[in-house]
Amino acid sequence: MKKAAILGATGMVGQIFVQLLSGHPWFEVTVVAASERSGGLRFSEAAKWKLPTPIPESVADLEVKKIDPENVKDVDLVFSALPAEVAGRTEEKFAQAGKVILSNASAHRMDSDVPLLNPEVNCQHVCLINEQRRKRKWSGAIIANPNCSTAILTLPLKPILDTFGIEKVVVSTMQALSGAGYPGVASLDIIDNVIPFIPSEEEKIQTESLKILGSPYEPADFKVSASCHRVSTLNGHMEAVFVELKREATAEDIACTLGRFVGEPQKLKLPSAPAHPIVVRNEEDRPQTRLDRMEGSGMSAVVGRIRPSHASRDTKFIVVGHNTVRGAAGCAILNAEYLCTKNYI
Ligand code: NAP
Repeated sequence: MKKAAILGATGMVGQIFVQLLSGHPWFEVTVVAASERSGGLRFSEAAKWKLPTPIPESVADLEVKKIDPENVKDVDLVFSALPAEVAGRTEEKFAQAGKVILSNASAHRMDSDVPLLNPEVNCQHVCLINEQRRKRKWSGAIIANPNCSTAILTLPLKPILDTFGIEKVVVSTMQALSGAGYPGVASLDIIDNVIPFIPSEEEKIQTESLKILGSPYEPADFKVSASCHRVSTLNGHMEAVFVELKREATAEDIACTLGRFVGEPQKLKLPSAPAHPIVVRNEEDRPQTRLDRMEGSGMSAVVGRIRPSHASRDTKFIVVGHNTVRGAAGCAILNAEYLCTKNYI
């Protein structure tokens, strides 16, 4: 078993890490860390636990540590669910101290030497770790996973790009409340409402998608335009996606391409890899957030309503994915599993 630490373990994403890593066949959580507010408390006292399953016994009594590389000396890997403003310098200190850190924060995602990994889509980008180590003169590494909406969007875009080519993507999101962390959006702002603004989200989708779908050194060569909206669902982001293709394709061609897609995590049979990273639904009213977000234990993107747009080279569809599983902790854990198979951990 490899020993794992979680930074920001008491937050929304941190709690999903704790839950997903409970009973994990390769990783065991031995250190939980959070802000000064939580330092010194037992995890069960510090975390406002929001999940329907109980706090795993193996973690409930752990003392919450301060965020300090000294506190993770004995661990093999570090998961970070820190706010971006704290993550930047902090994650660098951990990498400097020789730790491999798998980050959910946006701070380093667009650094040219940091792999931004959604493993079914671009696991070949791990080669950037060698460059990062050489350039930054550290023996650890920072590996980022994408913003939640981007993680869900890039799954169907990958086989579409490889098979039909892409000229342009327009995406409109309907994003769940858990995406804003805890306590998140005030109830009086969101009940009976939709808020058509999520700070920095559109920019993240527009830049991260191209980094992920490009080569390790060059972003993909098409345009992405995003419009982001906070809606009153708890978990699961829905995205309405419009794609201008390079080559003509029918809805059936696209459904077939998406349904057949598998990536390296499936071939390697990694513990957190869903059997089907993309699940295609044929009903006219699916996918739906509440019904489909847990597909593949929250790791699959569920696509439906694939249909032509105005021209024969245009298509549109809906995709739903779980924002704190595929869009956050689950993706980071799958990245860690992949790195283990490549001897980076
Ligand atoms: P959250 O619920 O607000 O949790 C933040 C965590 O960071 C808590 O454990 C908190 O500890 C700790 N923290 C806050 N300020 C700190 C400080 N100054 N020093 C040390 N620790 C501090 O946020 P979240 O939704 O889990 O998001 C965590 C990260 O993941 C963010 O970077 C976010 O952008 C990213 N992300 C979130 C999602 C999502 O769907 N929620 C998806 C993808 C990526 P205390 O409990 O002690 O305050």
